[in-house]
Amino acid sequence: MAFDVSIITLFPEAFPGMLDVSILGRAREQGIWSLETTDLRTFGLGKHRQVDDKPAGGGAGLVIRPDVAAAAIDSIDRKGRELIYLSPRGEPFSQKLAHEFASGPGLICFCGRFEGLDERVITQRGMREVSLGDFVLAGGEVAAQAIIEATLRLLPGVAGNETSIEDESFSAGLLEYPQYTLPRTWEDQPTPDVLLSGDHSKVDQWRLNRSKLLTEGRRPDLWAAYLNGHRIRASETDDEHD
Ligand code: SAH
Repeated sequence: MAFDVSIITLFPEAFPGMLDVSILGRAREQGIWSLETTDLRTFGLGKHRQVDDKPAGGGAGLVIRPDVAAAAIDSIDRKGRELIYLSPRGEPFSQKLAHEFASGPGLICFCGRFEGLDERVITQRGMREVSLGDFVLAGGEVAAQAIIEATLRLLPGVAGNETSIEDESFSAGLLEYPQYTLPRTWEDQPTPDVLLSGDHSKVDQWRLNRSKLLTEGRRPDLWAAYLNGHRIRASETDDEHD
Protein backbone atom coordinates (compact mmCIF):
# COMPACT_ATOMS: atom_id res chain seq x y z
CA MET A 1 0.00 0.00 0.00
CA ALA A 2 1.33 3.39 -1.01
CA PHE A 3 2.04 6.22 1.43
CA ASP A 4 -0.61 8.72 0.32
CA VAL A 5 0.17 12.42 0.46
CA SER A 6 -2.54 15.05 -0.08
CA ILE A 7 -1.79 18.77 -0.24
CA ILE A 8 -4.24 21.64 0.10
CA THR A 9 -2.72 24.82 -1.32
CA LEU A 10 -3.44 28.01 -3.23
CA PHE A 11 -0.38 27.20 -5.35
CA PRO A 12 -0.78 23.66 -6.68
CA GLU A 13 1.83 24.45 -9.34
CA ALA A 14 4.43 24.34 -6.54
CA PHE A 15 3.94 20.53 -6.34
CA PRO A 16 5.46 18.02 -6.69
CA GLY A 17 8.39 20.44 -6.99
CA MET A 18 11.39 19.02 -5.16
CA LEU A 19 9.41 15.90 -4.33
CA ASP A 20 9.73 14.70 -7.93
CA VAL A 21 13.51 14.66 -8.27
CA SER A 22 16.02 11.91 -7.57
CA ILE A 23 15.10 9.10 -5.16
CA LEU A 24 11.68 10.54 -4.25
CA GLY A 25 10.66 10.91 -7.89
CA ARG A 26 11.72 7.34 -8.60
CA ALA A 27 9.86 6.10 -5.54
CA ARG A 28 6.68 7.82 -6.74
CA GLU A 29 7.03 6.17 -10.17
CA GLN A 30 7.40 2.85 -8.37
CA GLY A 31 4.16 3.48 -6.47
CA ILE A 32 5.82 3.67 -3.03
CA TRP A 33 4.04 6.95 -2.43
CA SER A 34 1.33 8.98 -4.15
CA LEU A 35 0.56 12.68 -4.40
CA GLU A 36 -2.76 14.45 -4.77
CA THR A 37 -3.01 18.24 -4.85
CA THR A 38 -6.19 20.14 -4.00
CA ASP A 39 -6.50 23.75 -5.09
CA LEU A 40 -8.03 25.75 -2.23
CA ARG A 41 -9.17 28.37 -4.75
CA THR A 42 -11.75 26.01 -6.27
CA PHE A 43 -13.58 26.09 -2.91
CA GLY A 44 -13.53 29.92 -2.80
CA LEU A 45 -16.75 31.94 -2.63
CA GLY A 46 -18.47 33.96 -5.34
CA LYS A 47 -17.30 35.10 -8.72
CA HIS A 48 -13.78 35.78 -7.44
CA ARG A 49 -13.50 32.50 -5.55
CA GLN A 50 -12.59 34.40 -2.42
CA VAL A 51 -10.81 32.30 0.22
CA ASP A 52 -9.90 34.95 2.79
CA ASP A 53 -11.20 37.97 4.62
CA LYS A 54 -10.20 40.67 7.09
CA PRO A 55 -9.18 39.56 10.59
CA ALA A 56 -11.90 39.91 13.20
CA GLY A 57 -10.79 42.53 15.70
CA GLY A 58 -8.83 44.45 13.07
CA GLY A 59 -5.18 44.49 12.18
CA ALA A 60 -3.12 43.90 9.08
CA GLY A 61 -3.50 41.16 6.48
CA LEU A 62 -6.10 38.58 5.63
CA VAL A 63 -7.16 35.29 7.20
CA ILE A 64 -8.27 32.13 5.39
CA ARG A 65 -11.99 31.51 6.02
CA PRO A 66 -12.91 28.38 8.02
CA ASP A 67 -15.82 27.43 5.74
CA VAL A 68 -13.62 27.51 2.64
CA ALA A 69 -10.78 25.63 4.34
CA ALA A 70 -13.21 23.00 5.71
CA ALA A 71 -14.81 22.47 2.29
CA ALA A 72 -11.37 21.70 0.85
CA ILE A 73 -10.47 19.42 3.77
CA ASP A 74 -13.79 17.57 3.62
CA SER A 75 -13.36 16.90 -0.09
CA ILE A 76 -10.42 14.63 0.73
CA ASP A 77 -10.77 11.03 1.86
CA ARG A 78 -8.81 11.02 5.14
CA LYS A 79 -8.06 7.31 5.03
CA GLY A 80 -6.91 7.44 8.64
CA ARG A 81 -4.23 10.01 7.85
CA GLU A 82 -3.06 12.80 10.10
CA LEU A 83 -4.15 16.30 8.99
CA ILE A 84 -1.24 18.71 9.32
CA TYR A 85 -1.41 22.48 9.32
CA LEU A 86 2.01 23.93 8.56
CA SER A 87 2.34 26.77 11.04
CA PRO A 88 5.11 28.66 12.83
CA ARG A 89 3.18 28.12 16.07
CA GLY A 90 3.24 24.36 15.65
CA GLU A 91 5.27 21.65 17.30
CA PRO A 92 8.80 21.86 15.88
CA PHE A 93 9.41 19.32 13.13
CA SER A 94 12.16 16.81 13.92
CA GLN A 95 13.65 13.52 12.78
CA LYS A 96 11.54 11.85 15.47
CA LEU A 97 8.37 13.28 13.92
CA ALA A 98 9.56 12.19 10.46
CA HIS A 99 9.81 8.60 11.77
CA GLU A 100 6.37 8.89 13.35
CA PHE A 101 4.83 10.15 10.09
CA ALA A 102 6.65 7.51 8.03
CA SER A 103 5.15 4.74 10.15
CA GLY A 104 1.60 5.93 9.33
CA PRO A 105 -0.59 5.58 6.21
CA GLY A 106 0.25 9.03 4.78
CA LEU A 107 -0.28 12.74 5.39
CA ILE A 108 -2.67 15.51 4.50
CA CYS A 109 -0.95 18.91 4.56
CA PHE A 110 -2.74 22.24 4.61
CA CYS A 111 -0.50 25.07 3.40
CA GLY A 112 -1.46 28.42 4.88
CA ARG A 113 -1.00 31.84 3.29
CA PHE A 114 -1.58 35.45 4.36
CA GLU A 115 -1.97 35.70 8.16
CA GLY A 116 -2.92 32.05 8.35
CA LEU A 117 -6.05 30.06 9.11
CA ASP A 118 -9.17 30.86 11.15
CA GLU A 119 -8.67 29.19 14.54
CA ARG A 120 -12.03 27.42 14.47
CA VAL A 121 -11.21 25.18 11.53
CA ILE A 122 -7.93 24.14 13.19
CA THR A 123 -9.91 22.94 16.21
CA GLN A 124 -13.00 21.61 14.43
CA ARG A 125 -11.03 19.45 11.99
CA GLY A 126 -8.45 18.31 14.54
CA MET A 127 -5.50 19.75 12.65
CA ARG A 128 -2.04 19.08 14.03
CA GLU A 129 0.13 22.19 13.79
CA VAL A 130 3.70 21.51 12.74
CA SER A 131 6.44 24.12 12.33
CA LEU A 132 9.52 23.95 10.17
CA GLY A 133 11.41 26.21 12.56
CA ASP A 134 11.43 29.51 14.39
CA PHE A 135 11.05 31.78 11.37
CA VAL A 136 8.14 32.95 9.26
CA LEU A 137 7.70 31.82 5.66
CA ALA A 138 5.30 33.43 3.19
CA GLY A 139 3.33 30.20 2.92
CA GLY A 140 3.22 26.58 4.01
CA GLU A 141 4.31 25.08 0.66
CA VAL A 142 8.08 24.98 1.27
CA ALA A 143 7.51 23.72 4.81
CA ALA A 144 5.21 20.97 3.52
CA GLN A 145 7.77 19.86 0.95
CA ALA A 146 10.49 19.80 3.60
CA ILE A 147 8.58 17.66 6.08
CA ILE A 148 7.29 15.36 3.34
CA GLU A 149 10.80 14.92 1.93
CA ALA A 150 12.23 14.06 5.35
CA THR A 151 9.38 11.58 5.89
CA LEU A 152 9.44 9.90 2.48
CA ARG A 153 13.14 9.12 2.51
CA LEU A 154 12.53 6.95 5.59
CA LEU A 155 10.03 4.70 3.78
CA PRO A 156 11.32 1.22 2.96
CA GLY A 157 12.69 1.06 -0.58
CA VAL A 158 13.13 4.83 -1.02
CA ALA A 159 16.75 5.39 0.06
CA GLY A 160 19.18 2.97 -1.57
CA ASN A 161 21.34 2.26 1.42
CA GLU A 162 19.26 1.70 4.55
CA THR A 163 22.23 1.84 6.89
CA SER A 164 22.98 5.42 5.87
CA ILE A 165 19.65 6.33 7.50
CA GLU A 166 20.49 4.59 10.77
CA ASP A 167 23.87 6.31 10.94
CA GLU A 168 22.98 9.87 10.13
CA SER A 169 22.46 12.97 12.25
CA PHE A 170 19.79 12.77 14.98
CA SER A 171 19.10 9.05 14.59
CA ALA A 172 21.12 8.19 17.69
CA GLY A 173 20.57 11.63 19.24
CA LEU A 174 23.95 12.82 17.96
CA LEU A 175 25.11 14.88 14.98
CA GLU A 176 26.87 12.98 12.24
CA TYR A 177 30.66 12.59 12.31
CA PRO A 178 32.76 14.36 9.63
CA GLN A 179 32.84 12.60 6.26
CA TYR A 180 35.81 12.27 3.87
CA THR A 181 36.29 10.86 0.38
CA LEU A 182 38.97 10.95 -2.32
CA PRO A 183 41.48 12.45 -2.89
CA ARG A 184 43.41 11.29 0.16
CA THR A 185 45.15 14.66 0.35
CA TRP A 186 43.47 17.83 -0.86
CA GLU A 187 44.94 21.33 -0.50
CA ASP A 188 47.52 19.83 1.90
CA GLN A 189 44.68 18.46 4.05
CA PRO A 190 45.03 14.71 4.61
CA THR A 191 42.16 12.34 5.30
CA PRO A 192 42.51 11.17 8.94
CA ASP A 193 44.75 8.05 9.03
CA VAL A 194 42.31 6.03 11.09
CA LEU A 195 39.76 6.12 8.24
CA LEU A 196 42.30 4.52 5.90
CA SER A 197 43.46 1.94 8.44
CA GLY A 198 40.92 -0.71 7.49
CA ASP A 199 40.28 -1.34 11.20
CA HIS A 200 36.48 -1.12 11.42
CA SER A 201 36.20 -1.03 15.18
CA LYS A 202 38.74 1.82 15.35
CA VAL A 203 36.84 3.65 12.63
CA ASP A 204 33.55 3.21 14.52
CA GLN A 205 35.13 4.43 17.73
CA TRP A 206 36.64 7.48 16.01
CA ARG A 207 33.31 8.33 14.39
CA LEU A 208 31.38 8.01 17.65
CA ASN A 209 33.88 10.24 19.44
CA ARG A 210 33.70 12.86 16.70
CA SER A 211 29.92 12.74 16.81
CA LYS A 212 30.01 13.34 20.53
CA LEU A 213 32.50 16.21 20.29
CA LEU A 214 30.52 17.89 17.52
CA THR A 215 27.22 17.51 19.34
CA GLU A 216 28.65 18.80 22.62
CA GLY A 217 30.19 21.81 20.87
CA ARG A 218 27.39 22.74 18.50
CA ARG A 219 24.21 21.54 20.14
CA PRO A 220 24.33 21.62 23.94
CA ASP A 221 20.58 20.87 23.93
CA LEU A 222 21.04 17.58 22.05
CA TRP A 223 24.12 16.73 24.07
CA ALA A 224 22.27 17.13 27.37
CA ALA A 225 19.46 14.91 26.08
CA TYR A 226 21.96 12.32 24.88
CA LEU A 227 23.74 12.22 28.25
CA ASN A 228 20.40 11.92 29.97
CA GLY A 229 19.52 8.91 27.89
CA HIS A 230 22.93 7.36 28.45
CA ARG A 231 23.36 8.04 32.16
CA ILE A 232 24.93 4.68 32.79
CA ARG A 233 27.48 5.23 30.08
CA ALA A 234 27.96 8.93 30.88
CA SER A 235 30.88 8.26 33.17
CA GLU A 236 32.76 6.66 30.28
CA THR A 237 32.33 9.59 27.91
CA ASP A 238 34.96 11.73 29.66
CA ASP A 239 37.59 9.04 29.04
CA GLU A 240 36.57 8.74 25.39
CA HIS A 241 37.05 12.45 24.95
CA ASP A 242 40.73 12.33 25.93
N1 SAH B 1 0.69 35.24 11.04
C1 SAH B 1 1.29 33.95 11.18
C2 SAH B 1 2.26 33.65 10.05
C3 SAH B 1 1.61 33.50 8.73
S1 SAH B 1 2.75 33.05 7.48
C4 SAH B 1 2.02 33.87 12.51
O1 SAH B 1 2.56 34.88 12.94
O2 SAH B 1 2.09 32.79 13.09
C5 SAH B 1 1.70 32.33 6.29
C6 SAH B 1 1.66 30.82 6.26
O3 SAH B 1 2.96 30.33 6.02
C7 SAH B 1 1.19 30.15 7.53
O4 SAH B 1 -0.20 30.03 7.57
C8 SAH B 1 1.88 28.80 7.45
O5 SAH B 1 1.09 27.87 6.73
C9 SAH B 1 3.14 29.09 6.65
N2 SAH B 1 4.34 29.17 7.50
C10 SAH B 1 5.04 30.29 7.79
N3 SAH B 1 6.08 30.02 8.58
C11 SAH B 1 6.08 28.69 8.79
C12 SAH B 1 6.91 27.80 9.55
N4 SAH B 1 7.97 28.23 10.25
N5 SAH B 1 6.60 26.50 9.56
C13 SAH B 1 5.52 26.03 8.86
N6 SAH B 1 4.70 26.83 8.14
C14 SAH B 1 4.96 28.13 8.10
